[in-house]
Amino acid sequence: MQIGPRCVVQFHYTLTDDAGTVIDSSRGAEPLTYLHGGGNIVPGLEKAMAGKVKGDAFKVDVTPEEGYGPRIEALLQTAPRSMFPDDMTPEVGMQFQAESNMGPVLVTVMAVEGDTVTLDGNHALAGQTLHFDVEVTSVRDATIEEMQHGHAHGPGGHHH
Ligand code: ZN
Repeated sequence: MQIGPRCVVQFHYTLTDDAGTVIDSSRGAEPLTYLHGGGNIVPGLEKAMAGKVKGDAFKVDVTPEEGYGPRIEALLQTAPRSMFPDDMTPEVGMQFQAESNMGPVLVTVMAVEGDTVTLDGNHALAGQTLHFDVEVTSVRDATIEEMQHGHAHGPGGHHH
C-alpha cells in the first residue's frame, strides 16, 4: 500500500546537515514509527513520504520553513540569574521548558556571564536545511484508536 492519510509508517532515516555531518540516525536501532497526516514529523519529510511504499529508499532536502522553522532572533534573550530557582544553577547547554506567548518552548542556556544568563528558545535545528536519507520499512492502516489519539501505537509508537 502507498503512504497516505490514515497510514502508520515505519522508516529508517539518517539526518545530516549542509556539511554532511550526521545529526541523527535510526539505523542500528528501531525504525521510527509515525501516523501519516498527524503532523508527527516535520512537514517537508511528511510531504516526501506521501505515495511511497514499503522498501522505497530516497533522499529529500527539507528547507527550514518545512523543517524546524527559521531562526527567530527575538527568541535569543538574556535574563537575570535571579530568575532561576535557588536549587537550579544555570549552566551552558542546560535545557528546560519555559512558557511563551506561543505556548511552551524548549529553552537552551547559551551563556552565563556574571548575573546575566543568555537563553535561546529556537529549536537546535531551526534555520537549517535538513538532509534526510530514508528507507520505508513498513506501511499499514492506522487503527481507529490511533486516529483518535493522533499518533501511532505499538512498536516504535506510543505505549500507554
Ligand atoms: Zn495513543
